[in-house]
Amino acid sequence: MALKKYRLKRNFKITSEPAGVKHSATVKKSVSKAAKAAKERPRVFVVQKHAARRLHYDFRLEFQGVLLSWAVPKGPSLDPAQRRLAVHVEDHPLEYGNFEGSIPAGQYGAGEVIVWDFGEWTPHPQLSARAAFDKGHIDFTLNGKKLKGAWSLVRMGPASEKENWLLVKKRDKYARPESEVNVVEKFPASVLSKRKIEELKVKNSKTSTKLRRR
Ligand code: MN
Repeated sequence: MALKKYRLKRNFKITSEPAGVKHSATVKKSVSKAAKAAKERPRVFVVQKHAARRLHYDFRLEFQGVLLSWAVPKGPSLDPAQRRLAVHVEDHPLEYGNFEGSIPAGQYGAGEVIVWDFGEWTPHPQLSARAAFDKGHIDFTLNGKKLKGAWSLVRMGPASEKENWLLVKKRDKYARPESEVNVVEKFPASVLSKRKIEELKVKNSKTSTKLRRR
């Protein structure tokens, strides 16, 4: 779990995405102490809608001081029959969970980002979150504004550079057939700003027109 890959992909002089705190050895020690003390504390999860070259939803789970991240092209579904491809991507800094805005053209992941859902996640206690991640099967509960109840992330095949996982809703009182509720279409707006991603786009295209005229 490290942010090296995350930082290598980005130029923080240009993008407004957070660089993430650089921990010194002493800070790291106290962070791991704090992490142990906070073992019982619920961890944060966030889903960001990202209008990059291809629209997708970034699903992130707080784990050992970073956000484990998956890019989900179709977004989550409340229907247990829907298995949504979730491509494991580089760890993101915790601060990224609040990031909403526009990644400039030409930069990695260029396009608009909104915080589509936010809340707490709890790994199911059969395995530690670490063991579950290594095994490639994480069962957990979400308590977000839009997503709730039991979910699974399951890796398809052995660990590799680009890992394909599946994000699946488990059967419980929060499950709904896709034909009844398409959660990404029904609730498109940001849980932070109430803005839709299209509203950021309009603002952004105005700004870039101005820039071009200069
Ligand atoms: Mn993304």
